[in-house]
Amino acid sequence: MLKNFFTLLLILTALCTSFAFADKNSDNFVTTEEEARNCLIRAKALMASLGLPVNRDIYTRIEEMDSVQTHFSNSGVSGERTIAFYQAHSPEYIMISKGYPFQKTTLYCVHELTHAWQSTNCPLQEEAISEAFAYWVQGQAATLLGRSDLGFSTIMCSGDSLEMEVYQYLNKLYKTGGMKSVIDYVTTTVKYERK
Ligand SMILES: [Zn+2]
Repeated sequence: MLKNFFTLLLILTALCTSFAFADKNSDNFVTTEEEARNCLIRAKALMASLGLPVNRDIYTRIEEMDSVQTHFSNSGVSGERTIAFYQAHSPEYIMISKGYPFQKTTLYCVHELTHAWQSTNCPLQEEAISEAFAYWVQGQAATLLGRSDLGFSTIMCSGDSLEMEVYQYLNKLYKTGGMKSVIDYVTTTVKYERK
C-alpha cells in the first residue's frame, strides 16, 4: 500500500514537472481559435497578477496577417502595420495574426487586453499614453513569463519618440512607487506633459 502510494506520488511529481516544463517551453506556433483562446486565458491571468484584471468575456479571432491588416484598416486606423488589434464595440474582440509562437501571441494578447482595460478605466486617455502603457504592461508580463527578451524591444517597434518618453516615465514611476503609482497615473492623466 505504502509502496503504491510512493509510486503514485512519483508519477504525480513527474507529471507536474513535465507540465511545468511543457508550459515554460511551449512555444508552438498559434494557428487555431482554440490556441488563440488559450493565449487569451493566459494573458488574462498575467493581467490579473499585475493588478489589471479584465474579467469580462472578450472573444478572439485569429486570421492570416493580411486579413488582420484589412480589418484593422477598416476599423478607421490607417497607415500602420499591426499584428493584433482590439475592437471595443459591436462586438468587442481581439484579433490576432496566425503563426506566431505561443508566448509572443500571449504577450500580444496582454497588449490588446490592456486596451480593453483602458476602455473601462481610462477611456479618454490620449494615444501616446495608452500605447506606451500597453507596451509597458506587455513588458511587465514578459518579465513574469521569464521572457524579458520579449519586453522592451516591443516599444522600440513603435518608433514613436513620445511613446518612448511616456514608457520611460512609467518605468520611473514604477521604480519609485510600484504598480500603484503607475495605475494612479494612467487612470488620472489624459494628456502627457513632456518633462
Ligand atoms: Zn496598442
